[in-house]
Amino acid sequence: MSSKILTFVLAAGLALSSAPAAANANSHAPNENADHAFDNKVIKKINADRMYNNIALLSESPREAGTQGEYDAVQYIKGEFESYGYDTELQPFTFQEWDGGTSAIDVNNQAFSGEVHTFNGSVNSNVQAPLVYVGLASSEEVGNEVEGKIALIQRGSYTYYDKVQNVLDKGAVGVIMFNGKGQPGNHFGYTYEGQDIPAVAITHEAGLKLVDRLQNEQVTATVSVEDAGTIDKTSYNVIATKEPHKNKDNGQIAMIGAHHDSVAGGPGANDDASGVSAVLELARIMAKTPTDTELRFMTFGAEEKGLVGSYHYASTLSEDEVDRTVGHFQMDMVGSRDAGDLIMFTPDGQKNLVTDLGAAAGSRVAEVVEYGQLGRSDHVPFFQRGIPAALFIHAPLEPWYHSPQDTLDKISKEKLKETTEIVGAAVYRIARPDTPALENATVAPGPVHYEFDDRPL
Ligand SMILES: [Zn+2]
Repeated sequence: MSSKILTFVLAAGLALSSAPAAANANSHAPNENADHAFDNKVIKKINADRMYNNIALLSESPREAGTQGEYDAVQYIKGEFESYGYDTELQPFTFQEWDGGTSAIDVNNQAFSGEVHTFNGSVNSNVQAPLVYVGLASSEEVGNEVEGKIALIQRGSYTYYDKVQNVLDKGAVGVIMFNGKGQPGNHFGYTYEGQDIPAVAITHEAGLKLVDRLQNEQVTATVSVEDAGTIDKTSYNVIATKEPHKNKDNGQIAMIGAHHDSVAGGPGANDDASGVSAVLELARIMAKTPTDTELRFMTFGAEEKGLVGSYHYASTLSEDEVDRTVGHFQMDMVGSRDAGDLIMFTPDGQKNLVTDLGAAAGSRVAEVVEYGQLGRSDHVPFFQRGIPAALFIHAPLEPWYHSPQDTLDKISKEKLKETTEIVGAAVYRIARPDTPALENATVAPGPVHYEFDDRPL
């Protein structure tokens, strides 16, 4: 799950009815004698211990995109897929990431003793000038006295953009911003296009010391930023493909995804080693199960950098592949002991084939799954290409979200197993060869009623 809020434009004319044959599954009348054995071929084989062990391995260290930790995870996932017998592709792609280089502050020609963090977007420069304190740097607080000087600013109340722009407008040559009261550390700060000024961040305590000093003496400061800029990094998607049974191929494709990258410094047990473990488990089971549908099992990189891997993968799909893809099932954060119940999110808040099948599978395995509206994960790029797609996740989120506490001990095997069973049963509803044309299948359970839920994440 990405913390970035992504906006998207609904493609004109996008219709869920663009899905081929299997979309008709919903025209069934409910089968009151639904055979619960219908799903057993798949869900009986799901092994929660195997999944848990995979989460344990993957969450031993962070898997931030573009790092060795991600690469090790990618190699592990590829090896697992291959051990199940799949042809597995590593799809590399590049993404851009800010690197703050080296920044430093001098105060009256003495090196500043605290931590200095480069603002994201800062220019490289080395300036020496008198230091002036401008409080929160609102337009009222910043006067002409900052001209030619370095502005000392407290974080808070106004945007980084406004604060930096207010001192720039009055001719400041550098920015030192200290953190707000009660806010730990100094990892913050952005400058924006056109704000060509070196800008660095320090802690609240260090900032107050400078404010004190300015009350007693003249301070000349130096702010230097070196080697900052955006750099290209490489991340990977891992894709394992299961071909349909030769004589039963109906031309359809179904996709099952998760993301393997974690946030920086986070073990990402639930986010999203849990989803990866579910994708691996379903791949393991389906490897020996005949299907009439091509199945693509995939784990994406750089989800936490803004869904970069899934956008890349979706962009590589041909029109023919898009037309043949009946659904994309995304699992992100599916094992937390401390999160809420399972929900299916679509970017537009509308039902589609994936939510229809997920709700029905839920009713057979546990209980009906509701749906809601949310982007922020790898279902979005597929939706934008017109593929029925949904995110399976537990909401509200657990308190450990995106923290170093997102660890194995918070994983519930029961939740992990149940979610995987539901997605597995839904996928198998599409892929089982004894329902070559689902609309004609009398053994197949019918659709269920399920509701929109505006539950918060
Ligand atoms: Zn996340």
